Amino acid sequence: MSNKIDLTGKTFGELKALKENGRGNNRSFLWLCKCSCGNFKTVNGIYLRHGNTKSCGCLLHKSPQNKLDLTNKIFGRLKVTKWAGKNK
Ligand SMILES: [Zn+2]
Repeated sequence: MSNKIDLTGKTFGELKALKENGRGNNRSFLWLCKCSCGNFKTVNGIYLRHGNTKSCGCLLHKSPQNKLDLTNKIFGRLKVTKWAGKNK
């Protein structure tokens, strides 16, 4: 019980540790966390402190898909009918 670290109220990425929530493997502590998206997730404190877990998982879903879908949008007299790849 000597190396318990109180993470209450601390934030790790998108997660904020709310309270201790039982024990995990290797005598580690689990923490109930609230994600910035509103979801709750129980995370091993080791993962929090090492930065392995930074969200409830929602960050993984925010894929870097920044390609705008211009299909069927009209620019002047041009109409985009399909994605034709990148210009060189
Ligand atoms: Zn989330």
